[in-house]
Amino acid sequence: MYAVIDLGGTNTSISLFNSPESLQPERIAAFPTHPEYAVQLDHVLGALAACKPRLSGIGMAIGVQLTADGLSVDETWTMPDYSNRPVVTDIASATGVPVIAANDNVCAVIAETLHGSLRPWRRTAYLTVSTGTGAGIFLRDGSQSFAWLAQVGHHIVNMEGEDCVCGQRGCVQAVTGGQQFLRRYGLPASEVRDEAVWRDVTEILAVAIVNLARITRVEAVCISGGIGYNNPWIRANLAGRVQDRGPATEIRVIFPDFGEQAPVIGAALLPGNRSVTILR
Ligand SMILES: [Zn+2]
Repeated sequence: MYAVIDLGGTNTSISLFNSPESLQPERIAAFPTHPEYAVQLDHVLGALAACKPRLSGIGMAIGVQLTADGLSVDETWTMPDYSNRPVVTDIASATGVPVIAANDNVCAVIAETLHGSLRPWRRTAYLTVSTGTGAGIFLRDGSQSFAWLAQVGHHIVNMEGEDCVCGQRGCVQAVTGGQQFLRRYGLPASEVRDEAVWRDVTEILAVAIVNLARITRVEAVCISGGIGYNNPWIRANLAGRVQDRGPATEIRVIFPDFGEQAPVIGAALLPGNRSVTILR
């Protein structure tokens, strides 16, 4: 039996899989992600305690970038207390089973490309628009495949734009990031109703996707995240705006077969995976 920890910037869930290929997670715990690493680690290990004797491996989808060895959290602006923490080593030594982790966008692009909405294409992306904006990229080359994280949210689309959390100005995420809605309108994104706001956000996302397609040559992009997946304006208009902005890219804009479970299903595939190399 495998466990999956889906550790996002806002929420954490823990699920069990009898077999990863069943694609059927059984959720056993869900709680808000604690901003303090040590407290969060206690919560995760507490949730795993009952099933620990039956586990043969753990896959983890995490909403931050990992270090090159895949064992620690890299510097992160969104979860500062997690920076440089050896999260994989800590969980492996506490549970006694192997742990493999990847960024949640990377897990999701693996799930959707191998088993879901992105199956028809050779070069794919999974773009999350939520607290942060980032993409998992997948490239198939014969029997080998490669997946990696692209910091799409931190490419510059407005020379005169606002300051971003990363230290640059005019990033995609300076418009699309969840905290921007709170700062500008005093509301979470889910409660912003002004159509003009969503027209602007959709336009920036369209430019970001066209740029992503030009740079990586991805053929299809799957849109997810609390904002990207749920907002009706984005769902109705983004594909059309991408077509208008970058007709020659011919990139397809679609939504995930696995909904918000895509990172969980992708993380379950990590422990037994031989065919996908994760580049960090
Ligand atoms: Zn930025």
